[in-house]
Amino acid sequence: MSSVVVIGAGITGIQAALDIAGHGIHVHLVEREPTIGGHMAQLDKTFPTNDCSMCILSPKMVDVARHPFITVHTCTEVESISGEVGHFQVVLKKHPRYIDESACTGCGDCIEICPVEVYNRFDAGIGVRKAIYKPHQQVVPDYVIKDPEHCIECGLCYDACGPGAVLRKDEEKTTELEAASILVTTGYAVFDAGMKAQFGHLLLPDVITSLELERMINASGPTGGKLKRLSDGKVPESIIFIQCVGSRDITIGRPWCSCVCCMQALKNAMLIKEKNPQMEITICYMDIRSYGKGYEEYFERAKALGIRFLRGMPSDVLADRKGMSLQVENSETSEVQILHPDLVVLSVGIGPSDKTSWIAEKLGIPVEESGFIRSVNDAVDTVATIRPGIYVAGTTTAPRDIPDSVASGGAAAMRAYIDAVRTRST
Ligand code: SF4
Ligand code: SF4
Ligand code: SF4
Repeated sequence: MSSVVVIGAGITGIQAALDIAGHGIHVHLVEREPTIGGHMAQLDKTFPTNDCSMCILSPKMVDVARHPFITVHTCTEVESISGEVGHFQVVLKKHPRYIDESACTGCGDCIEICPVEVYNRFDAGIGVRKAIYKPHQQVVPDYVIKDPEHCIECGLCYDACGPGAVLRKDEEKTTELEAASILVTTGYAVFDAGMKAQFGHLLLPDVITSLELERMINASGPTGGKLKRLSDGKVPESIIFIQCVGSRDITIGRPWCSCVCCMQALKNAMLIKEKNPQMEITICYMDIRSYGKGYEEYFERAKALGIRFLRGMPSDVLADRKGMSLQVENSETSEVQILHPDLVVLSVGIGPSDKTSWIAEKLGIPVEESGFIRSVNDAVDTVATIRPGIYVAGTTTAPRDIPDSVASGGAAAMRAYIDAVRTRST
């Protein structure tokens, strides 16, 4: 029977897989990380409704895992793709998890006992994980993964695991699939704030990124939802958001607007202000881009809550014994102001994921100068590529918010589905 391969299991790939499988076509959902869910699993709330992000995502992750027409391949990357529409041959390479997936119950006893703590990439650097771990509590599939780079082979997890699921040795496995069509939803990468050294990220403990803030204010995050300064653990009395960090910046080759960071800053500023009405929150911006349905009203709500909007970009963030300071020229009044925040949040932009050009090359489809994949026509056909049977969706082609990503995933899913149906009937 003809199937569809979906590469990338963030919200776009998940929704596309559910759409296609819901019409009776088998989907292979491929994800290089140990869990499906992508970036949305890291977020606290979603704008403009302020719904809990995981409350939307988690049921879809579970639906995918249980769906009889979806096979989930985690820790897996595409090795090669050949053939043409209706008859693609896809070779997958599964990286070792060092866990017997048929035996692991996800109980977490091994995590509890592991003595090694390392940086947790899922928490964007705030908080730690063990050498055997789940990236977060709601992983799908519900297995742990052992990290051989940091494991000291103390042996405790082998003894703690009742079913004997922890493996001392494991190896890469190759799988070959036939697919009628392929859908690429490999998503985005968050800008590395270290590239704008003048803002002091990783140099000053109280300069954090918008993603770090998301993890910090998330009730299931590393601080249990408590907003605090990393330097002294105190709740900040004043926060400054700096917008467009790593976006709209030709000096670093990133001229595009990242689309989501204005709304993300509004959302997080409002969530914080609602809990801490006395806190002074200022958003330093070039423009506020609140372009979607209900978004402008959201902006108005933020202003009504008392969040201050200062039109101007700080040049740098300085620190001395008294604390942090930054200088900004208000471009509406030409007044130069010196601000002394307790916490600075860099609203980092989004760009193509590190594997986008690699996967595009394997698929024989072009990327733009920006590094995003080029679709056939950005005006009227954003999901087709120059190669029949290969489709793109979500932030693989451009920055998009969650509703737009899901909509493009649905459009691409139907095109991939039609190819599969045509193949089945020929
Ligand atoms: Fe539990 Fe064993 Fe799985 Fe660890 S490896 S979560 S101890 S079943
Ligand atoms: Fe942790 Fe490795 Fe020891 Fe297991 S063997 S408990 S993963 S350090
Ligand atoms: Fe800048 Fe806002 Fe565009 Fe993000 S969405 S790049 S913060 S203008």
